[in-house]
Amino acid sequence: MTEILAPAGNFEKLKTAINFGADAVYAAGRSFGLRAKSSNLSQTELSAAVQFCHSHQKKIYITVNIFAHNSDLQKLPSYLQFLNEIKVDALIISDPGIFLMAQQYAPDIPIHISTQANVTSYKAVEFWQRQGAKRIILARELTFAEILTIREKCPEIELEMFVHGAMCMAYSGRCLLSAFFNRRDANRGNCSQPCRWQYELIEKQRPDQRFFVEEDEKGTYLFNSKDLCLFDQIKKIKTAGIDSIKIEGRMKSAYYTAVLTRAYKNAITFADQPEKIAVFRDELKKVSHRKYTEGFFHRFDATDTQNHEESSYIRNYQYLGKIVKVKNKLVLIDVLAKFSLGEEIEFIFPDQKKDISFTVQEIWDADGNEIEFTKPNTQIYLKNSQKLPAFGLVRKKIS
Ligand code: SF4
Repeated sequence: MTEILAPAGNFEKLKTAINFGADAVYAAGRSFGLRAKSSNLSQTELSAAVQFCHSHQKKIYITVNIFAHNSDLQKLPSYLQFLNEIKVDALIISDPGIFLMAQQYAPDIPIHISTQANVTSYKAVEFWQRQGAKRIILARELTFAEILTIREKCPEIELEMFVHGAMCMAYSGRCLLSAFFNRRDANRGNCSQPCRWQYELIEKQRPDQRFFVEEDEKGTYLFNSKDLCLFDQIKKIKTAGIDSIKIEGRMKSAYYTAVLTRAYKNAITFADQPEKIAVFRDELKKVSHRKYTEGFFHRFDATDTQNHEESSYIRNYQYLGKIVKVKNKLVLIDVLAKFSLGEEIEFIFPDQKKDISFTVQEIWDADGNEIEFTKPNTQIYLKNSQKLPAFGLVRKKIS
């Protein structure tokens, strides 16, 4: 069975991913990963995360995929030794220097070559295989035909591919826009995403006059990539013998992780029964996303991968919180966003058939007082007479 690999931007998201069907998660420590703005995991949390995953017979891969400069190298040996000791299941690496150091300081841990290394041909796969890599995370910029050729010519190595999430306008991360505008280096995990901005032109002698660079009346988003979504290609991907499919999004919410992990888990499991996965196609629209594209899957042509009209997210649903416990027909909820009496809300669970929606008729605060609406970062009680499964999240439709 093809592995479902889900993002774990922090410990809570990691647990959510596992509970909602991930076979493996990828996460970072506080350094050397490419999502510096995500809270990531402390060393104590990394140890606990490995134990949690292994106790659920799941795997955890740790990103060490910055392009290291000399100044980064000093702290790497002790960090790699630590990852070796806690027995993470793989290191995700793009930099050949870090690859060498990982072989020296974390010799027991398999190495996966990050998509950041831009592996785009079977010869590049062969190269990394000879160096000792266990898995290649293929470049997002490959067509499916190219992936099939790689699979055929390199049958022994594990192949992983991204199937969902944000994309760069450059070969993943090989981009200096953020370093140029903000002095924040995308290749050391600190991208500020200037590819999503709208651009205008200012002539040096007329600083107060802005010249609109106008593609059309909606503006000009020169570099703005759509989000990848290969949900409808999962059967082909599974049949091709791809070992692992990956969901991007360590900076996204636990809700995002839950909905997408559940959708792709079902898409893989029921790849031959389209009637069983139709409902999850709709679920893909219930997380915050940009317009979807199938990227380079069909052909190497970037025309359809960019959105030149606007860069805002499409948000149809709001994540309201998570169910903490259910006792005596009362549901205790950690609230993240406001909802009020009379609103329609939904509980979602790992098994989508158990999801329920209902109108909120009574709310109590943690002290048992009746209230009319919830406040973020509080706990509240709702009444429920049904038996609820574990690990529920709460959402509402907003448009
Ligand atoms: S600025 Fe955009 S294209 Fe460049 S690395 Fe960041 S996300 Fe990717």
